[in-house]
This record gives sequence, C-alpha cells and structure tokens, in this order.
Amino acid sequence: MKSKQMATTCIHAGRRAPVRNRPEATPIYQTSVFTFADLDDVERFFAGEQGTYLYSRYGNPNCSVVEAAIAAMEGGADAVVTSSGMAAILCALLAFAKAGDHVLCSDEIYGATATLLQTELQKLGVECSFVSCHQEENVIAAIRPNTRALFAEVVTNPLISVVDIGMLARIAHERGAKLIVDNTFTTPYVVRPLEKGADLVIHSVTKYLNGHNDVVAGVVVGNDPAVMDDARQRMKLMGLNLGPFAAWLVERGLKTFALRMRQHCANAEKVARFLQSHPMVSKVYYPLLESHRTFAVAERLGLHAGGGMLSFVTSEETEKLNRMFRAMEMIVIAPSLAGIATTMSHPLRTSHRLLAKEKQRELGITNGLIRLSVGIEAPEDIIADLAKGLAAME
Ligand code: PLP
Repeated sequence: MKSKQMATTCIHAGRRAPVRNRPEATPIYQTSVFTFADLDDVERFFAGEQGTYLYSRYGNPNCSVVEAAIAAMEGGADAVVTSSGMAAILCALLAFAKAGDHVLCSDEIYGATATLLQTELQKLGVECSFVSCHQEENVIAAIRPNTRALFAEVVTNPLISVVDIGMLARIAHERGAKLIVDNTFTTPYVVRPLEKGADLVIHSVTKYLNGHNDVVAGVVVGNDPAVMDDARQRMKLMGLNLGPFAAWLVERGLKTFALRMRQHCANAEKVARFLQSHPMVSKVYYPLLESHRTFAVAERLGLHAGGGMLSFVTSEETEKLNRMFRAMEMIVIAPSLAGIATTMSHPLRTSHRLLAKEKQRELGITNGLIRLSVGIEAPEDIIADLAKGLAAME
C-alpha cells in the first residue's frame, strides 16, 4: 500500500496476514466482527454456511472449536458455549420452562443454581421446588402436572453422593418432562449423561473441562436440534457468549483433559483411602468407597472412576482446622475446584454459607466438613501434605 496518508496506511497496510498454510494451533480470532466481500457473501452467512461468521456475540471460530470438541466428548450432536456455567444453566432451563411451568430441582445442588431458580426464574413466572433425588418415590411425589424439567448434578456437592440419572430420566420422560444434568463434577470421563437418557447436559467449563483455574466458561450439550437452536438463540440475545481468548484457553485445556482426569481420579481414590484410615478423620465421602451411602448407585451407573472430588469430616473446632490449613505447604483454601493443583474448601463458610441452618444440619454440612479438589500432583506428595495438616490438629 503506497501513496496513502499515514492515517490510512497505519490501519490498512498490514491488514491481510500473508499466511498460505494452516497453523497447527488454532489462531485466536480476537475480533468482534467479520468482513464480507460482497452481498452474496453476506447471504452465505444468513443461509448458515459453515465457517461463516458475522459478529462474535453470535459465534466465533474459537467458540466453534470448543463446541465441536465438547459435543463429541459428551457424545452429543451439538453444544453451545457460554460465558459461565451459570449462563449455561440459564440457557438450558429456559429451553424447557416458561411462565406457568414448574422445574423440579435436586436439593443437593450448587448454591447459585438454587438461588437462580428461586429468584430470577421465579420472577419470570417459573415455579421451582427441591427434592432429594436419592429415593424414586420422593421424586415421583414431587412432580407436578406442570413440571417441564428436572435438574440434578450427577454427584452432589459437597457430599459427593451419586444420583441415579437414568432413573431421573425415566421418571421425567414418563411424565412428559425433560432432564437437565449438571456434569461439572463428574465430566464425560466418568459418565456421559446423554447416554443415560438426559436431554441436556451443562457444565461449568471453568472446572475440569478447562482445568487450569484461568477461565470462567460454560456449555450446554444436547441432541435435539430445535432445543439446541433455542439455547443458542438465548445465548446470542442475552449476550451470554464466551470471548475468543477464553475459548482459546479452553481449547488448550481440553487437549489434556483425558490425561488430567485419569490422574485426578487415580489420585482422589488413593487420597480417599488414606483419609479413611486416618485417626483424625471420622468420615470420607467418595463415590467409589464401599462405605459411601450411594456406592450401589455408582455401581449401577457403571462408574469406572470416581472423579477428583471428595469430602471428609475432621475436627469441628475452628482453631484446630486453622492449624491444619496453616501447616500444609502445598494445599491452600480455594473456594472453586477442578484445577491441576490440589485445593481445599470449607463448604459451611463458602459455597453453602447461605443455606438454611436446618438444611445444613440435615445434609451434614458442619464446621468439620472439608471438601478436597484432588489435583494431578504426585499422589505421595498430596498425601504427605494432608498428613502434615492433620498431624497439626492432634
Ligand atoms: N455447577 C456447579 C456444579 C458448580 O460447582 C458451579 C460453580 O462452582 C457452577 C455450576 C457455576 O459455574 P460458573 O461459576 O462457571 O458460572
């Protein structure tokens, strides 16, 4: 570009990158808008031609890459990535429920999911109620004539109980309702809910799918094209889209997903068995422990791995707990989960702080309950750090 003014040259001169062959890593499409050669080209976008983009709120190549990967990992036909797990939950719920409808939700659920149902969804005229999903008869009794969706997590937080999602799918479908499953804790490495009858799967991609504690993102996965179009439309209209750089980081995280999960699961099982034999620990919650109240459900669902999350009960005295936290060199309190480093959280003081006292007691969420997100470090080092922390309480 010659003989233009500087103000023009600095904008246009380097505009077309001289790349002929494909880069091995996906480039970051950090652009809000895409360009068109002519009006025929514009029509190609509106005709839905693959690989044609218009505006990054509607779709972006980095998001498409992640959507294709997660859909395949979950065994679903399509996926919509969103700005957060909460955005994915909203897109999924509103795909089935409108004013006058009822949503039945598991009573052991991520706190913000419960709040979303009780506040924003209520304001939109969607009724919601909560039920313990461990007994079939309880769930059936809680269904109403206007129930359009059931919502559950495969393993509950923080007690890591396994919910029989096959049973929930059957109950929902026999009554004309749909099942939405939050597979954040378990991931498709442990279970693929669509194969067990779920209609939609959602994730906080923030957790294991990305896996490095550096992105907040979500996804909705499903098979029904009309439902998925509806979820995508909501993502676009409510502006729940994920940015290109965050999507690029997620893509990078996904590449090591299987390796990471193998290590998370193997480590967590070892740590669970170590804690079970420790004198300072009175109870351990991990799906593959024979002592867990939902061990039979884990077997029924055919879980070959138990995931990377576990909880345990130790001293109820805050001073002793603080001694444990301070004594550990590697494991810190981090009220999220599923990163490569082992972290601890205290449900009573963080995720379940706002739960009614009575419900906290009923679920066994006491001061001594600690949730552990087991990382992918060498298991001996994780166990040694925990042993050091537990010894400091004695
Ligand atoms: N679902 C579960 C099980 C979660 O633990 C979380 C967050 O911790 C969410 C959904 C919400 O995800 P996000 O924080 O990405 O919006």
